[in-house]
Amino acid sequence: MTNETGWNLDNSYARLPEKFFTSTNPTPVRSPELIILNESLADSLGLDVKSLQSEDGVAVFAGNEIPEGASPLAQAYAGHQFGHFNMLGDGRAILLGEQVLPEGGRVDIQLKGPGRTPYSRGGDGRAALGPMLREYIISEAMHGLGIPTTRSLAVVTTGETVIRETGLPGAIMTRVASSHLRVGTFQFAAKWGTIEELRTLADYAIERHFPDIEADESRYLSLLQEVVKRQAELIAQWQLVGFIHGVMNTDNMTISGETIDYGPCAFMDAYDPATVFSSIDRQGRYAYGNQPVIGGWNLARFAESLLPLLHDDEDQAVTLAQDKISIFNDLYQSNWLAGMRAKLGIFNEETQDEALINGILSMMKKHGADYTNTFRALTFDKMEDTVLFGTPEFAQWQELWQARLGRQKESKESSNQLMQNSNPAVIPRNHRVEEALEAAVEQEDYSVMERLLDVLANPYAHCEKQVEYAALPESTKPYRTFCGT
Ligand code: AMP
Ligand code: MG
Ligand code: MG
Repeated sequence: MTNETGWNLDNSYARLPEKFFTSTNPTPVRSPELIILNESLADSLGLDVKSLQSEDGVAVFAGNEIPEGASPLAQAYAGHQFGHFNMLGDGRAILLGEQVLPEGGRVDIQLKGPGRTPYSRGGDGRAALGPMLREYIISEAMHGLGIPTTRSLAVVTTGETVIRETGLPGAIMTRVASSHLRVGTFQFAAKWGTIEELRTLADYAIERHFPDIEADESRYLSLLQEVVKRQAELIAQWQLVGFIHGVMNTDNMTISGETIDYGPCAFMDAYDPATVFSSIDRQGRYAYGNQPVIGGWNLARFAESLLPLLHDDEDQAVTLAQDKISIFNDLYQSNWLAGMRAKLGIFNEETQDEALINGILSMMKKHGADYTNTFRALTFDKMEDTVLFGTPEFAQWQELWQARLGRQKESKESSNQLMQNSNPAVIPRNHRVEEALEAAVEQEDYSVMERLLDVLANPYAHCEKQVEYAALPESTKPYRTFCGT
C-alpha cells in the first residue's frame, strides 16, 4: 500500500540528539472515517488521492498504520505562554516524519490528536472534530490569501468520544509544515541542552530553511536575521488582512516563518487595534494591535537562546543579537507600509503615505467600520453603505487620496487592479466558519464547509460567490474563541 499511496517518508528530526524528542507511536483508534482530504495538496506532495481515501490510506491518517520510512515521535520544546516560561513539548501531536517531495525538499507530516505522549501532562492527547475542521478551514484560508502557513492534508474522525465540557466526536488532523521548529525549540535547547546540542539544532534549522547562509562566516547571526526577516514579513501580512493569531506564545512561532497553531485565532471584522477574540486572553496581550510588538518580544527570546553561538564573549554576543533584533521594527513597518500602499492602489513612495493610511484607519476605528469591507468599498468605488463614507472627514480624506493617486505615473486602471489584488473580497468570517462547523459536527453535513473552502481558496477573485460571503453577520454579539479543545 505504501508505495502506491506515494508516501516517501524519512525523519531527519529523529537523527537529532535524543533530548529533542521522544519516540512515540500514535494510539490506535476504533473506527476511523475520512471527513475531508485536501486533494490538491495531496497531489503536490506526490500522494495518490484514491489510495489515500482507501481503508489503508485512512488508517495512516488515524495513526492505526505507520507508513514505511516514518519514525513517529513527539517533539520536545519549551515556550513562554502569556509571558511565563514553561517546558511543553507535543502533548497531542506526533511527527511521522518528512515527506520527501517529488521535486526535492521535504515537509513535516504531523498527526494532531493521535493520543497521549510523554509531554501530555494532564491532557488526553486527543482533539475534537470541530477545532480540527476549524484549523483546516482557517489555515487553508490563509494559504488562499497567500500567507505562509502550515497546511491541512486531512481530517478523520476516530469513532471515539473526547471528553471536554461535554462529550465531542474525536478527530485527528494531518498537518503539513515546512517544519515544526519553533522559537520554543531553541529555548528548550538553550535551557536544557549543551552548547553542542544547541549548535546541532541551529545547523539543522539552517540546513532545512536557510541553506543559502550555510557558508556565512557568522551563520548563527545570519540565522537570527533570517528568522527576524520572515517573521516581520509574516506578521505584516497578518495585520494587512486583519488576522488575529490569538496565542502568540513562543512555542507557537515558527523558525520557517509559517503561521502555526490555529487554536483561538479569528479575523477582525470592525477595525479596532484592541480586538481580542480568545477567551483566555483577558489582558489583551495578543490583541490585533499588539501582534507586531509581541513578534519582536518573541524574537528577542529567540536571540537569547542563540547567544552562546553568537560570540564567546557574552557582552559581545548580546550586542550582536540586539543589532539584529532592532531591525525587526523597521522591517515590519516597511512590509506593512508596502502592503497598505497596495491596498490603496499606491505604487511609489511618499513620506506622507503613512499619514494617509492612518487617516482611513482612524476613521474606521471611530465609526466601527468593517476592515475588509471598507477596503473593498474603496476598491470598487461603492461607498454608499456605511456611516463612515457620509462624513465630511471622509470626503476630505478621499480628496487627498485621489490627489495622491494622481501623483503617480501608473494609470487609474493599474492602480485599481493593484487594489483588487490586495484587498480580499472574502475572509473566513466568524459566523460563516461557525455555520460550516455546526453543519459538519451536528448534522454530518460537510457541504457547507466545502462551499466555504471553495470560496476561500480564491479570496481575490471578486466574483459573485466571493461577494456573497463578504456580508457581515446579523448578530453583533461579541465573538469568542477557545483553545485546547
Ligand atoms: P497550544 O496552546 O495549542 O500551543 O498547546 C500548548 C501545549 O498544550 C502544547 O504542549 C500542547 O501539545 C498541549 N496540549 C494541548 N491540548 C492537549 C491535549 N488535549 N492533550 C495533551 N496535551 C495538550
Ligand atoms: Mg502550540
Ligand atoms: Mg494549539
